[in-house]
Amino acid sequence: MIKPASSLCNMRCRYCFYSSISSAREIPSYGIMQNETAEKIIDNIFRDINATDQITFGFQGGEPSLAGVEWFRSFVQKVLLHKKAKISWTFQTNGLLMDQKWCDFFLENKFLVGLSIDAGKRLHDRNRISAADDGTFEACLQTKELFDKNRVEYNVLCVLTNELAKEPDRAWRFIKNENIRFIQFIPCLDAGDLSQHSSPNTLRPPFFAQFYSRLLRQWIKELENGNYISIKFFDDVANYFYKGIPTSCGIDGQCQNQYVIEADGSVYPCDFYAFDQFKIGSLCESTPKEIFESKKTQQFLLSKQQLPEICNSCAFLKSCRSGCKRMHNVMYTFAGSCGYKTFLEKSLKPLLQAVQALQKKLS
Ligand code: SF4
Ligand code: SF4
Repeated sequence: MIKPASSLCNMRCRYCFYSSISSAREIPSYGIMQNETAEKIIDNIFRDINATDQITFGFQGGEPSLAGVEWFRSFVQKVLLHKKAKISWTFQTNGLLMDQKWCDFFLENKFLVGLSIDAGKRLHDRNRISAADDGTFEACLQTKELFDKNRVEYNVLCVLTNELAKEPDRAWRFIKNENIRFIQFIPCLDAGDLSQHSSPNTLRPPFFAQFYSRLLRQWIKELENGNYISIKFFDDVANYFYKGIPTSCGIDGQCQNQYVIEADGSVYPCDFYAFDQFKIGSLCESTPKEIFESKKTQQFLLSKQQLPEICNSCAFLKSCRSGCKRMHNVMYTFAGSCGYKTFLEKSLKPLLQAVQALQKKLS
């Protein structure tokens, strides 16, 4: 996951966790990634890659489009010179700078794009504001229309604040009204103290459970009418409990090394831990394998939080193993209950039954 424009952004979202993480570093922003840095990173990555490997380059920020479309053209060209491995590309944007040039670039190179839009103008404009303090909902919807018109492959990224979690019907109306085919709800973490609930936006586990249980009922009805809408959390739970495949980091209680690459080439194991003290190396100096095998990376991957009391007696402990350590007080355990457990108890069975019925229909 590469941050070509570091933490630079043309929005001032009120719940931005990367802005609070980067401002706690000695150097909050490394600016736009230099061509020379990009070359070193790519060369070091390909030192570890074989012809049959698969590699996904994901771009995130801050806002990666601030690096300019020509920066990306040059990056893609440098990668393709290596003529090795199966390459795929993803790009996450707030949508403000998107135009025809970007669409052409995404289509030419088969990018999968994540476009951030919150569920409805009122909620979106309250939190997703421009540097000039204006709401950005209309501009983001225009980008969505541009993507639709050009058939750019995208999914919508919607922040699941505590307020939205109390209104699952609003989220469902948004999906239907905007004809969204793929959506990921991103739990809103606290932008201030990362272990506290100091903001009213921060998601709380009971509302997480309530939101997804209600949304699931709508989703199943829609599925029974022959219309599959991809809601990432349902896909992840189905993949994991039906096929045994973990498709989201932490669903099996295990941290993955996400190789978060800042604009100066420094690497962090996870987007939530891009602090100076968690830096695990630099791709300007080492290969991914060398970084993976370093003591610091292994320490991060193996470090476990103390098991909360409620997990000891939980029927899902074996599969969940206490989940993602960073999501604990937003979707897992908090004040003696667990949102994920509540959801699974109520909704895992109907979710798996719906998936089985669909499989049967398709076979
Ligand atoms: S903290 Fe969570 S998201 Fe980060 S690597 Fe661990 S499981 Fe994954
Ligand atoms: S209580 Fe929650 S976090 Fe703990 S094992 Fe059960 S589902 Fe996972």
